[in-house]
Amino acid sequence: MSVQELVLKQRTEILHALCSSGSAEHLEQVLDVLLAEEELSWEEYQNVQVLPEAKGVGFSLTGCRSSLEGKEEYQSTSSQTLLTQRPSLVRELQGCTDGALQALLISGLFTTADCDDVRLPIHTPSQQARRLLDHVRSKGESAAKTLLQYIQQKQESGSTPTQEKPTPPKEFVKYQKKLSSSVSAQSCFLSTYGGTSHMSLDDIYTEGQLELGHDCADAHGSLGLEDIVGTAGTVNEEADTVLVSGEAGSGKSTLLQRLHLLWARGTALQDFLLLFPFSCRRLNSEQRELSVQELLFQHCCWPDREQEEIFQFILDHPHLILFTFDGLDELKQSFSDEHRLCCPTQRAPVHVLLFNLIQGSLMKGVRKVVTSRPEAVGPLLKKHLRKEVFLKGFSPSGIDCFVKKHHSDPAVAAKVLGSLQTNTALLGLCHSPVLCWIVSQCHKELLGCGEGSPQTITDVYLMILQHFLQRQSSQGSTAGSGWLHEHLQTVLHLGQLAFELIGTTCYIFSGADLETCGVTEKDISMGFLIQSKDMSSTRSKRYEFLHVTLQCFFAALYIVLSNNTDRSTIPKLFELKDLKETGLSSACFGSCLPSTYQQEGEATAAETPNLQITATFVSGLLSQRHQSLWLHCCPSAVMEKRVRQVVRCLSKGMQKHFKSIPQPVEGEKKSMHAMPGFVWLIKCIYEMQESRIAKDAMSKLEVDHLKLTYCNIGPVECTALAYVLQHLKNPVGLQLDNNSVGDVGVEQLLPCMHICNSLYLRNNNITDEGIRKLIAKGIQCDNFRKIALFNNQLTDACTQHFSHLLKTKQNFLALRLGNNNITAEGAKQLAEGLKFNHSLQYLGLWGNKIGDAGAEALAQVLESSNTLVWLSLAGNGVGSRGARALANIIKNSASLEEIWLIENCITRAGVECLIQALEHNTHVKSICLRNNDLTPEEVEEMTQRESRLIF
Ligand code: ADP
Repeated sequence: MSVQELVLKQRTEILHALCSSGSAEHLEQVLDVLLAEEELSWEEYQNVQVLPEAKGVGFSLTGCRSSLEGKEEYQSTSSQTLLTQRPSLVRELQGCTDGALQALLISGLFTTADCDDVRLPIHTPSQQARRLLDHVRSKGESAAKTLLQYIQQKQESGSTPTQEKPTPPKEFVKYQKKLSSSVSAQSCFLSTYGGTSHMSLDDIYTEGQLELGHDCADAHGSLGLEDIVGTAGTVNEEADTVLVSGEAGSGKSTLLQRLHLLWARGTALQDFLLLFPFSCRRLNSEQRELSVQELLFQHCCWPDREQEEIFQFILDHPHLILFTFDGLDELKQSFSDEHRLCCPTQRAPVHVLLFNLIQGSLMKGVRKVVTSRPEAVGPLLKKHLRKEVFLKGFSPSGIDCFVKKHHSDPAVAAKVLGSLQTNTALLGLCHSPVLCWIVSQCHKELLGCGEGSPQTITDVYLMILQHFLQRQSSQGSTAGSGWLHEHLQTVLHLGQLAFELIGTTCYIFSGADLETCGVTEKDISMGFLIQSKDMSSTRSKRYEFLHVTLQCFFAALYIVLSNNTDRSTIPKLFELKDLKETGLSSACFGSCLPSTYQQEGEATAAETPNLQITATFVSGLLSQRHQSLWLHCCPSAVMEKRVRQVVRCLSKGMQKHFKSIPQPVEGEKKSMHAMPGFVWLIKCIYEMQESRIAKDAMSKLEVDHLKLTYCNIGPVECTALAYVLQHLKNPVGLQLDNNSVGDVGVEQLLPCMHICNSLYLRNNNITDEGIRKLIAKGIQCDNFRKIALFNNQLTDACTQHFSHLLKTKQNFLALRLGNNNITAEGAKQLAEGLKFNHSLQYLGLWGNKIGDAGAEALAQVLESSNTLVWLSLAGNGVGSRGARALANIIKNSASLEEIWLIENCITRAGVECLIQALEHNTHVKSICLRNNDLTPEEVEEMTQRESRLIF
């Protein structure tokens, strides 16, 4: 088929590729190449030129020339050079169009109108470069010559375009100072302490764990704050928006606050002259239509003079400006790219502005950092992201550091940390910064708890409820469980406020809202509500809960305790349905509800996480363990009915997941790939702490393999999983690849180890310490036979534990330790264990550093193995000495079928040994040897001699 025919045949796919994405960049790149290759005449190009609104993407343009040299014989004029070198010139000019325009302006070849036309803010930097080239072409040969000279000078001086920093006008500098002192004032204290004491961010800030997306090539290694806007992990060069995603309470707002503070102090992000911080929660209450200019100046900082000049400077230098939007998931409207807007002075509803800013159709080139919970980020938004960074809460040392910062008395800090060490469930919860804060805040209760030490998230929130209520209580603390009864009215008032507004993505309350729910000054003084910070606010007082999770907790308290909720509230909550119809009249909260949300139905993506958290708390609050607390607050018959409702909902929810399990193909295992909602239900069951319910749920799950990959599973989820899965009837393979299990999570999983026959923990940040605990338990579990730990942080220190496992467990089948840091020393340790093992069939060490010495040590013991079927030592720096040793396994083994040796440094001599060994062996099916030290001729020859060698 000719290429032309192929293009015709694939016309639909090509069109789709060009038009279905958010950027016109690839279509324009195709046009650049067609022009340069003279496949497209200038006239034809003008006919198909891409307008800024057009969308298109999707061609890979390998082979596109990248330097100014080459093809010189055809380039008789500078104009022609502009055409033939167009793809590389577009790249050269990006970021230095300003300089080029200046040069053309000075030489009188361009007018200011020409310059303005090129600089239109609707164009991306590459589009600006193309418009510049088009203008220059229309101006003729001298303009082309001037431009080429400018580029040449730039190349010779070696300066990169991005290093150009303009001198801002005087008023701009004044504005910059005003903005930074306002940002500094807003960000130096942490809001959760606002109700009680002022804790400065400097004193308490603790580094959270930041990770790049799993699919990203440079996903490993720790990230610092500045890396959020840096180049690491960029997946879309053309996009401006970086997403920081993390669960509620993982520290997203605090992280942004830290970035703001460091910028305002001049200690970070100094490439940005201005930083505009926005809170989506506060943007929700902006009813007016605004232009970008108004949004910046009215919501962040008002310029005292020369507004236009300052805004023009911002437009002219987008790469020097940073916008941050905290809590995109809290915006009432879900992200959409339907309503396009390009003009920064045109007014529109604030959410439309925000979506256009994120996509880059407005203020292209300005870097934007957005935070959100992961559930609220759909594919539509992902398309417009430069990169995604995950915030995973505190590491074990982070918890330690936070607690020490929180308690200035080292003796208290040591006691709190000590009590956390003895309660691993609680320690697991502390990975979430918000829970770590609560636990530290309530240290007196925690240390005095003894038997009743908190286990679940609900326990932790009940602890803070008691802490706040009793701190304010005039009579001092009430003994026993009467404290709730004493403060019931406050709890119900705040609960109603939280409940009425939780399903409406409303997080800021007016005085009128408070009044409607009967919230009094005394209720406010308890400290759960704080005054909303609003940079621009001249309005009356507004309030928000200390943290969104606390709002969910109060909503749950209301659902459990109130006499005013509908019977259908609990079922609707668990079906994640809109709750608006189930409570009291919501008419008074009309201002919070956009008209599209007024009808009943499924909750929106933004509401779902809050409903899930609320449902988790409802489950926890209705646990039998807390019965005594409700004793005098609610009739027991009502409580029992609510418990039954929750149990029924959980059972129904689980059934729904089990029904989706496909029947296995013959000969294959029955496997369930869990959806995120499954983990949530498991967490609800855990909160109830009733093994009867866990047992009942698991009795209906009949699978051989449970896959929970990419499910955001951290230590908290591991605790819940282990609690529930330990009741499975039959052993399963538990696949938890690509989560954030970590060492603490591993420890949490131990209670369900006996029911796991295989454990897959690839890419989970596990270290030798986690392995130590895992193996100590695994050795006692008869079912446990396979483990996969590809891509963790293992070193030689873990191999002694595996060695012990291999010696002790004579039914262990598969050990996969690829992509870790195991050297020859580790391999020798493993060999020690293998000497006494008579069961291992699969050994994978791909991508370690065992070298020849390691290969020799392993070969020496494996040559007598009658069980080993598969061995991988690929990518291990193994040379011919190692290959010679491995040949001995081949000579002697009656079981081995496959060896992977690709990406090593084996030479001809080594392969010769393997060939000779194969002459004595008919079992081995293949030896993969691609990418070793062999010439193509040697490869050719050896393939002829031995067909089982794969190159
Ligand atoms: P998110 O925005 O993800 O819901 P927040 O940033 O509001 O989470 O964090 C909730 C609480 O957890 C904060 O108010 C603070 O008490 C604590 N916290 C979060 N991150 C940190 C941190 N990096 N250092 C210290 N405390 C933190």
